[in-house]
Amino acid sequence: MAARHQNYINGTFVDSNDGGWIPVLNPATGEALSEIPNTQSSIVGDAVDAAKSAQRAWEATPAIERAGHLRAIAQKLRENVPLLAETIVKEQGKTMGLAEVEVNFTADYMDYTAEWARRLEGEILPSDNRGENIFMFRQAIGVVGGILPWNFPFFLIARKLAPALLTGNTIVIKPSEETPNNAALFAKLMDETDLPKGVANFVYGAGGSTGAALCDNPDVGLLTFTGSVGTGSQIMRAAANNITKVNLELGGKAPAIVMADADMDKAVAAIVASRVINSGQVCNCAERVYVEAAAEDEFVTKLTKAMAATKFGDPMQNRTVDYGPMINKAGLDKVAGLVERAKTAGGTVTTGGEVADTACGNYYQPTVITGVAQDAEIMQKEVFGPVLPVNVVSGMDEAIARANDSEYGLTSSIYTKDISNAMRAANELKFGETYINRNNFEAMQGYHAGVRKSGIGGADGKHGLLEFTQTHMVYLQT
Ligand code: NAD
Repeated sequence: MAARHQNYINGTFVDSNDGGWIPVLNPATGEALSEIPNTQSSIVGDAVDAAKSAQRAWEATPAIERAGHLRAIAQKLRENVPLLAETIVKEQGKTMGLAEVEVNFTADYMDYTAEWARRLEGEILPSDNRGENIFMFRQAIGVVGGILPWNFPFFLIARKLAPALLTGNTIVIKPSEETPNNAALFAKLMDETDLPKGVANFVYGAGGSTGAALCDNPDVGLLTFTGSVGTGSQIMRAAANNITKVNLELGGKAPAIVMADADMDKAVAAIVASRVINSGQVCNCAERVYVEAAAEDEFVTKLTKAMAATKFGDPMQNRTVDYGPMINKAGLDKVAGLVERAKTAGGTVTTGGEVADTACGNYYQPTVITGVAQDAEIMQKEVFGPVLPVNVVSGMDEAIARANDSEYGLTSSIYTKDISNAMRAANELKFGETYINRNNFEAMQGYHAGVRKSGIGGADGKHGLLEFTQTHMVYLQT
């Protein structure tokens, strides 16, 4: 029988089988890897209670000591990179190289966040009154609920846990039911450090039960969520009942603009890398291309060749594949449906365009599809797969107008050697991030935040950290 996970509550691994069990599958083979409890409301409540009880003492601990705990966890992660990477590959399907990067980046993120311990500052403001002092303190919110997706499941733990803990909050994390095994290992390694009990808790289960129970709990002061737009709006609705603060990192439909003056080989390499990484299942991946008419033939020819040359397969069997399986059959069917409807609407597939013919696993062929209109479903909806629709534009005006014509606003990119095109993109693209002449990947010291339906608030850097704090104004009359 596959291993059954326990929740991690108040520093103890506890059985929770009040809502049955959810199997965790390897998307490359279909093999059952483990089972998680579908944790129900009362046990989620226990985890929140534990976090609430631990919070005052944790906040009273000097920030530099809290940072020391983050560094100790980072050290544990670094000592276990092969095991952690293999665990991620087996349940999520990314390549081994990418999984190793994810684990190391996660450890670096913990250390980076720890560096902020001596840098969190309040403000002192001039008063209108004699003898009065005005202070703005930055204080912890209390208990944070962190709800995670499956695509970068390990890194997302740190993106929620590290800033929450550094700023004096405690946390309850609900990993995705698709990828809980890496979280269970995180909890185990964290438990081997001397982090005080209750400061960080993990509960497993489905979104509609475990996730919803976390959102409904009135003792959660901040819900930080990464996932789809649909779930983001459900979480916002639930948060409305208790006026709980939300931080939402949602989907994307990143445009890549290719101007005729671009270095075409570099543009193609960056766009392909950005599209096939993690089988295209990345929120900031290039999701649609706008190429200037004068460069259409050269770009489409080179793009088609490069996409056709990418290799997919079971990343546990072959370290050299560019991408692995889609997370599950539903994800595969979604991609296949979008491509079929784009073909019916007049799109021309220049490579790929089908579910891969493999003995097992959820694989989609690397695909380029041209002749798709701006209002085509595939240019508007998040594909989340190794598929690039290409649309031809007359110049910068049309490229910027079409790029901005999206309900999403997470990331965007432009390839050009002309500095005035680059600056226009910087000024006029309405997205949280714009990458100029490089593929899409954000820095931990930046600020990853979407506009429109891509989210509310953001993560990383100073501004991400401040989202885990609340202000407290103090007026002192002497
Ligand atoms: P999802 O929305 O299906 O699930 C995310 C999490 O929410 C899971 O843990 C799930 O159990 C939980 N959930 C589902 N329903 C819930 C409910 N009613 N209440 C509380 N929790 C609930 O997303 P996914 O498929 O895991 O992830 C893919 C999506 O995440 C894509 O849209 C992608 O663009 C987005 N994403 C965004 C970023 C970013 O930084 N903006 C990063 C990674 C992924």
